[in-house]
Amino acid sequence: MARRGGGGNSREYTCENPYGPSPTAIKAMSEAIEKGAYYANASVAKLKSMIAERNGVSTDHIMITSGSSGALTYLAAAVSQHGHIIGPDLFWDTTSKMGTRNSPFGLKYLPKTEDLSIDLNKMYQSINSETALVQVTNPNNPTGMLLDADKLSDFSKKASKKTMVLIDEAYNELTDDPVKNSMLPLIKQGENIVVARTFSKIYGLSSLRIGWGYGSKKIIDALNVIKPPFNVNEVAQKAAIESLKDKKFISRSVKHNYFYATKLKDFLSNYDISSNKVSANFLLLNFNKCKLKAKSFYEKLKKKGIILRSTEEGYKIKNMLRLTIGSKDENIKFIKATQNIFKK
Ligand SMILES: *Cc1c(COP(=O)(O)O)cnc(C)c1O
Repeated sequence: MARRGGGGNSREYTCENPYGPSPTAIKAMSEAIEKGAYYANASVAKLKSMIAERNGVSTDHIMITSGSSGALTYLAAAVSQHGHIIGPDLFWDTTSKMGTRNSPFGLKYLPKTEDLSIDLNKMYQSINSETALVQVTNPNNPTGMLLDADKLSDFSKKASKKTMVLIDEAYNELTDDPVKNSMLPLIKQGENIVVARTFSKIYGLSSLRIGWGYGSKKIIDALNVIKPPFNVNEVAQKAAIESLKDKKFISRSVKHNYFYATKLKDFLSNYDISSNKVSANFLLLNFNKCKLKAKSFYEKLKKKGIILRSTEEGYKIKNMLRLTIGSKDENIKFIKATQNIFKK
């Protein structure tokens, strides 16, 4: 049974890229496995220099971690001894779980807005002298919402004068304009900002656990103090290097995602199920105007072997479901199943 929603405690997990990892990455991984008895390249030098080159900065600004969760965890652990972390009540909560566990300050959630967007003004206003970090996920998960790049840039510059700013850009490559939507240039301008990126999503390497954090040399140096040695295995390093090189594969993956996400969004609107503008590899489906409730649609689909992610428990969002964009066959199966459900 294919799980299409992501996460949860199911033994079957979301596939983040239906094409899988790039074929050249798979080849490099098989070769690296043979060398499993050797320690990995501890400085992750080659991958770092590729990332540095693409973003026009020095390798000193980059930390490669086990998934971007690694970077988020180190950062939260480092700062949360000095103050609280502010995040919207809807976000990838690695920082809250890992970083604030032993913090005397904890985490402050920004209340959900009616349309589930992140209110940057409210977030800015909530910063005080005890704030160690504000976190923005852009595009956000599970809403799929992308913030206006200029507004986010203004917010980040302003907020970073008062506290550290973390921008989690896990889905950046899937947005309409990855360069424009990234806050990486602000770091080059010396702002107190960290950007987290990952190979888990569009590069299809979620299981390999590799991502990166990008910040001032001062921040990266501080994180290096707590980072364990050999934190990224060689198989993942090789896979990431080959994935970055395989631009054709990535653009094919992005195109597939955009094509089917748009198709599914339009298709679902026929049943008054609305969803976010396409900016990630999932859609958050809103059933408020639909004749079926999210829960009932979920159950009916499940009987047909398709599982979406309920947002009610974890995220506490009522009457919505998260749909991950699948392979061509999976998407067609979903369309047919939906047509059947609404025919009755
Ligand atoms: C998937 C995801 C990540 C990435 O996690 P990894 O540790 O890199 O696998 C980070 N933030 C958000 C919002 C995500 O959805």
